[in-house]
Amino acid sequence: MSNHTLQMHYIAPLKEMQFVMHKLANLENILQLPTFAKTDVDLDTSSAILAEAAKFNQEIVSPLNWIGDQQPSTLQHDKVTTPPGFKEAYHQYSAAGWQGIIHPRQFGGQNLPRLLNSACQEMVNSANLSFALCPLLTDGAIEALLIAASPLLQEQFLPKLVSGQWSGTMNLTEPGAGSDLANVRTRALRQNDQSYKIFGTKIYITYGEHDLTENIIHLVLARASDAPEGVKGLSLFVVPKFLINPDQTIGERNDVYCLSIEHKLGIKASPTAVLQFGDHGGATGYLVGNENRGLEYMFIMMNAARFAVGVQGIAIAQRSYQQAVSFAKERHQSKDLGGSDGPVSIIHHPDIKRLLMTMRAYTEGARSLAYFGASIKDQVSENTSLKNVSEYQSLYEYLVPIIKGFSTEMSLEVTSLGIQVHGGMGFIEDTGVAQYYRDARILTIYEGTTAIQANDLLGRKTIRDSGAITQVIIQQIIMTEIDLEKNSSTAAQSMLSNLRLARKSYEGVLNFILKEHQQQLKNVFAGSVPYLQLAGITLAGWQMARALIIAQKNMPDDPDFYTAKITTARFFAEHLLTKVPAIAKSILEGGMSANNLHIEQF
Ligand SMILES: Cc1cc2nc3c(=O)[nH]c(=O)nc-3n(C[C@H](O)[C@H](O)[C@H](O)COP(=O)(O)OP(=O)(O)OC[C@H]3O[C@@H](n4cnc5c(N)ncnc54)[C@H](O)[C@@H]3O)c2cc1C
Repeated sequence: MSNHTLQMHYIAPLKEMQFVMHKLANLENILQLPTFAKTDVDLDTSSAILAEAAKFNQEIVSPLNWIGDQQPSTLQHDKVTTPPGFKEAYHQYSAAGWQGIIHPRQFGGQNLPRLLNSACQEMVNSANLSFALCPLLTDGAIEALLIAASPLLQEQFLPKLVSGQWSGTMNLTEPGAGSDLANVRTRALRQNDQSYKIFGTKIYITYGEHDLTENIIHLVLARASDAPEGVKGLSLFVVPKFLINPDQTIGERNDVYCLSIEHKLGIKASPTAVLQFGDHGGATGYLVGNENRGLEYMFIMMNAARFAVGVQGIAIAQRSYQQAVSFAKERHQSKDLGGSDGPVSIIHHPDIKRLLMTMRAYTEGARSLAYFGASIKDQVSENTSLKNVSEYQSLYEYLVPIIKGFSTEMSLEVTSLGIQVHGGMGFIEDTGVAQYYRDARILTIYEGTTAIQANDLLGRKTIRDSGAITQVIIQQIIMTEIDLEKNSSTAAQSMLSNLRLARKSYEGVLNFILKEHQQQLKNVFAGSVPYLQLAGITLAGWQMARALIIAQKNMPDDPDFYTAKITTARFFAEHLLTKVPAIAKSILEGGMSANNLHIEQF
């Protein structure tokens, strides 16, 4: 058995991805927006791109997942060696142009929609979360440079980052500065030639040192000499591992060195580095944008990175689900409740089906919400009406902490259920399912913990606009309820009643937040993570409701696929949306009990 499961590699769920992209997130319309129309990518080419991504990730990246877990990256002196096969796979990844697919053509990218990229991101992350982190962080560095760097810096760094020839890192965290970046102590001293010398220690830096690329471009948050205290005094710097000569060739070694890499619970192949800047006279850095605006740039960039981590959650949940289904079809235990001669495969037992349906419904719901979010982002720059631009942008910014928080939290539940389906075999490392659980565990922590996503959702995205964008979403859910009212099928009616209850709970919580935050701020914030959870389930359920309606309309085209979609949507309504009123009750009534013990009583 263990041999079988070890050899079970990832199969990309292309049909499901295509359904979400085409039917729920309207890829066809997005490809016709002026910026994407110029790329000459139509529905056929986008399908070909997805098929190619599936092939590459299934055949090249996925087989390295287990190897990376068993033979993690290692450090000798200040050099990190990645697991066997990673270097070759990474070179193929960059040579094929995957790093650049959403980035501007001006810098060698392909400028394709984020919607299409979401599916590509999902595939590489399902195949191998540790491997995928290198391109994910490079995307973050590219975004930061696109947002604010001077044309000179962009010219110097972007083409090689976009091609994947160099990789990027994000250096925020320090021993005293994690969730709260106000405590960043890394210093930046202005030099006469407009460069800076950087001094300090950064910890937990993903792919901070490795052997996949010839240069590593660190984006570093630091404080210039006369900067104000707190987050308002943070600036952003580019600090390359190797300096660049005027003719663009690789120059001398910069003063940034890897002191150690961490031993971790999961994502073991991804090197997590402690980086020391400036122990030998100062690391040369170049200011991105203006001094003291570093956090502002980081926040814009973080929307992309947080979205990408949300997709990591969906990706690992999908992989765990696939393996659980395969195991459940093979493992024989106990007779069928309906009667059988001997033991049947465990997928016949109602509780195993319930576990698999929970995994499937969470994953499909979260995917639908994330791809929908990507399609909103694709439309931001393309709407000529100003009102629409800011409304789309606000909607996207509202969705990002939900996509990050909900998809990653659900991935912990799904990967845990994946172990449960395997019984004892799930607890034994050889099957590989324990790795998914261990790998998923970081997702609710990095790029801002779930609590930090929830604070963002509640504070910046809900209270600050007095619930305006939440109301826009609620109105859209009501439109879907109206569509469901016209549909008399049992599945649609079940969805309608549960979606309506969830939406009303969501509205009730919104009113509570808006009314009570001034009088009882701490009690309202005790409900911040439950609010994120409630919003995540309701919005994913809303997307599943839309999927159900579309599936019924398209039934003759593919009865097998669409009946499964309708049943999964109905399961989402009856097993997951039904949690929402209980979560709402805990928010409305539970703030006091969460807060009232004195510190000494713990
Ligand atoms: C494997 C790995 C890779 C990483 N990669 C990178 C990277 O590439 N670059 C980088 O800069 N950093 C990276 N990090 C750091 C990561 O982003 C931080 O660990 C994370 O932001 C949390 O910070 P912390 O560990 O200091 O926890 P703390 O901030 O100390 O948080 C501890 C607990 O307190 C809670 N908490 C803190 N503040 C609040 C609040 N205001 N309200 C409610 N709860 C709160 C948190 O939710 C958490 O549960 C990585 C970390 C790991 C483990």
